[in-house]
Amino acid sequence: MAEEDHGMRRSLEELRQTFKSGTTRSVDWRKQQLRAILRLIHENEHLLFQLLESELGKHPVESYRDEIGVVKKSVDHALSCIDQWISPKKGRLPLLFFPASGKVLPEPLGLVLIIGSWNFPITLTLDPLIGAISAGNTVVLKPSELAPKCASFLANKLPLYLDPKAIKVIEGGSEVANQLLEYKWDKIFFTGSTKVGKIVMSAAAKHLTPVTLELGGKCPAIFDSLPNADMKVAIKRLVGGKWGPCSGQACIGIDYLLVEQKFASSLIEQLKKIIKRFYGDDVRNLKNLAKIVNKTHFDRLRNLLEDPAVANCIVYGGSFDDTNLIIEPTILLDPPLDAEIMNEEIFGPLLPIITLDNIEESIEFINSKPKPLALYAFTKNEKFKKRILAETSSGSVAFNDTMIQFVCDELPFGGVGQSGFGRYHGKYSFDTFSHEKAVLERSFYFELEPRHPPWNNFKLEF
Ligand code: NAD
Repeated sequence: MAEEDHGMRRSLEELRQTFKSGTTRSVDWRKQQLRAILRLIHENEHLLFQLLESELGKHPVESYRDEIGVVKKSVDHALSCIDQWISPKKGRLPLLFFPASGKVLPEPLGLVLIIGSWNFPITLTLDPLIGAISAGNTVVLKPSELAPKCASFLANKLPLYLDPKAIKVIEGGSEVANQLLEYKWDKIFFTGSTKVGKIVMSAAAKHLTPVTLELGGKCPAIFDSLPNADMKVAIKRLVGGKWGPCSGQACIGIDYLLVEQKFASSLIEQLKKIIKRFYGDDVRNLKNLAKIVNKTHFDRLRNLLEDPAVANCIVYGGSFDDTNLIIEPTILLDPPLDAEIMNEEIFGPLLPIITLDNIEESIEFINSKPKPLALYAFTKNEKFKKRILAETSSGSVAFNDTMIQFVCDELPFGGVGQSGFGRYHGKYSFDTFSHEKAVLERSFYFELEPRHPPWNNFKLEF
């Protein structure tokens, strides 16, 4: 057995021993760890700003909004609710069992594996970790190798703040992930692509390990006609949601836009105006826009645009800064529906606009594709909203805004169909990392004799 395998096995054995010792079940321990995450974030805020800027080109304001602030908010919420979450919930029993009591007791699952993605390297590792700790588990965290500085930050700093016998970070790429997947876990929480999600799920099946899969896909946005004042707000939210978080490299980012043909040109003009205001229009000097994570993804996005079938559909942008891995916010009008850009998840700053004769056709369009992680609709038409909710399926729906459903602790976050399954955030995270044990207790006081043999027809009628 290779030296690293020995190291990994020893680490997992230590985590198993810690779980057996009962340390992580104590609510005080859980609260201490949660407070330690707050200290970690607070004391290293400037370092995190630097890492996220150098690794992904995120401005500190963006890093605070999408990573540091999100984690702080999640810890605060967990700390304020944990006593309530861990308390048993009463379960009503049939009168037939009187006198008896029933309750639902949450218990930790044991040793859990969290595999993260690179686009929000702090949020997508620490947010699930908050749930796993709140529920009283021991944890291995495997951050993405595509944000190596943030991964090393977690590997080096977490042991200084959190209990190293209960929480370990293991760095590495797919090889390390595959090694980890060989082991038996009590839960695997995976954030990443649908393709790798399938690998994770088949590895988990060998041990009957439950999985939560936070995957991706193509998230549509429907843009209905709006009065002028609302339109102005909607355009800002749309531009901010498409290009703001990590330059479109976001699982719930808008992938494509559906609009009625007659509004398309005025919509595009307004989009251009706001894009220029938010980011500028010189590709060598764009501001407030994250970079593409690496050359492979940069080339993947360039290939989507250089597809001869779509090249003449570009109505805005389309320039590349190879040195800084920046792609200008780019809009395409009516690319062919069989082009790769309309079939692969874009995960970058390219926005195809598809025109329809009537906006209500967007429901059929969306239903012709796999169920998305998020669906956005800008509309004031209440009947249309009802139709969208009743006739489409997606992980979440947001009307008249984008992305902000991610930061609402009281809303479950997760996919459906190809975009994944399971959910987290707030109490949903706690539940994801807990088993709800049914507990029934009877008294010896009263015995209903007809439940016992010998059987006779009178007992059937009873
Ligand atoms: P990815 O699937 O390539 O990688 C995710 C994780 O899996 C990484 O930690 C990586 O090391 C590991 N991995 C990669 N190949 C593996 C393999 N063969 N076997 C085992 N593990 C492997 O995804 P990514 O590039 O990090 O992220 C992009 C995708 O993730 C997009 O599809 C996006 O929509 C999705 N995503 C979803 C969410 C969500 O919350 N639902 C959040 C971010 C990203």
